Amino acid sequence: MEETGPLDAGEKEGARLLAAVAELVVRHAGSVADGPVAPAEPGTAQIRDWLSGYDFERAAPAEDTVADVTGMLRRWGVHTTHPRYFGLFNPTPTWWGVAGELLAAGVNPQLAAYSHAPAAVEMERHVLRFMAGRLGLPDATEGSFTVGGAEANLTAVVIALTRAFDGYPRSGLLGLPGQPVMYASAESHLAWLKIAHMTGLGRDAVRLVPVDAGHRLDLISLREMYAADIAAGFAPFLVVGTAGTTAGGAIDPLPELALLASIWGVHFHVDAAWAGAIALSDRLRPLLAGVELADSVTVDAHKWLSAPMGAGMFLTRHPDALASSFRASTSYMPDESEGASDPYATSVQWSRRFAGLKVFLGLAAAGRPAHAAQLERDVRLGELLGRRLREEGWRRINDTPLPVICVADPDAERDGREHSAAWHAAVADRVVAGGEAWVSTVQLAGRPGIRLCLTSYRTTAADIEAVVAALGRAREAQPV
Ligand SMILES: *Cc1c(COP(=O)(O)O)cnc(C)c1O
Repeated sequence: MEETGPLDAGEKEGARLLAAVAELVVRHAGSVADGPVAPAEPGTAQIRDWLSGYDFERAAPAEDTVADVTGMLRRWGVHTTHPRYFGLFNPTPTWWGVAGELLAAGVNPQLAAYSHAPAAVEMERHVLRFMAGRLGLPDATEGSFTVGGAEANLTAVVIALTRAFDGYPRSGLLGLPGQPVMYASAESHLAWLKIAHMTGLGRDAVRLVPVDAGHRLDLISLREMYAADIAAGFAPFLVVGTAGTTAGGAIDPLPELALLASIWGVHFHVDAAWAGAIALSDRLRPLLAGVELADSVTVDAHKWLSAPMGAGMFLTRHPDALASSFRASTSYMPDESEGASDPYATSVQWSRRFAGLKVFLGLAAAGRPAHAAQLERDVRLGELLGRRLREEGWRRINDTPLPVICVADPDAERDGREHSAAWHAAVADRVVAGGEAWVSTVQLAGRPGIRLCLTSYRTTAADIEAVVAALGRAREAQPV
């Protein structure tokens, strides 16, 4: 018999291990709600001490290791799949999504070149085009799966520069007539600053436009900043509208931004990383009006579409700009197939995992209507949470139809911003340390408060009552 390599543990061992992992994952799902949402302290010393037992010189039984690792993950981490994690857009992933993750890892298709994985590439493309259709983008829309929203937004900046400046592909920023600048609201996701840093634009190139009372990008300020930039010789190339800001869920005035971008001849990108999911609901979709005018759009499936991380989506109506931004040719990559472009030549990544499979499976198995019903349920629970907090004397400080609720205590606000920030942080810490729920602090246009976002399909009305009660106890225990 031909001998296989030393890493071949055999199918029997594989089946045993995967069954053990499946059991651990299912048990975790069934019991996560019984434990604290987050550990009371960070535990770095204990974690490093535990890790010193793994020097990787001896082999250890995988099943034991998997159980050991799961135990540590359970003990030392915030449980984003807990029904009372009112957190940062991280969902409880669906079983279909988890299954898709396993399948993608096991079959391990390489999505760099089309010819290596035509079925996988077409499945991703099918999902992207479905999403584009729901967003009202034209049939010619193409895109790519990304690690997340930050990579999708990076892609937007690269293609916006490529579209705006003929000299950019060859000479880079030095070949440009003026320093390029872009506009995004002061409440936008600050990945833009990192992206400006990475692309050589420099962080100052991101003009953070003030927001209005509803934390939406203020159009008058934008016009003024644009006029001043033009007068000073800067070269505006990109306007970003955020649909669902991270802190407060504000939706920028997308139709007006689209119009200004078109008058100015600059790229219009919509960052709908979280809220773009509502395109799947006929009832909620009108909130995104104007997104259909975008030159490009970011939507994260690993947020409100409840796919496991990481699954971002980048969509653009300019496939030619995508192709000219990321093209490359080598002697070793397979030739491009007829009529289908190679993902490595149309995206930031080269070797690519099959991130789209978990999204495909979720959509195929549950169907769009179930996703829509989930989104609408989350919105209703968000309304309930907002109402209950108001009844308990909290003051709502954000304004959005989406299920992210930011509140402040009127008494704590009376003694100035600094006191308010410290007080709200202490209350949030107390709730988290109690293990009953996870909430965060927030600053909305500088105003401190507590932020709660509905992110789990496991969350029920009883969990809403529980977090309201936990906040009430923490408030009692924290003198103003
Ligand atoms: C989450 C988020 C991002 C960043 O996306 P990642 O998936 O974390 O990389 C960007 N923009 C907005 C509006 C977001 O909510």
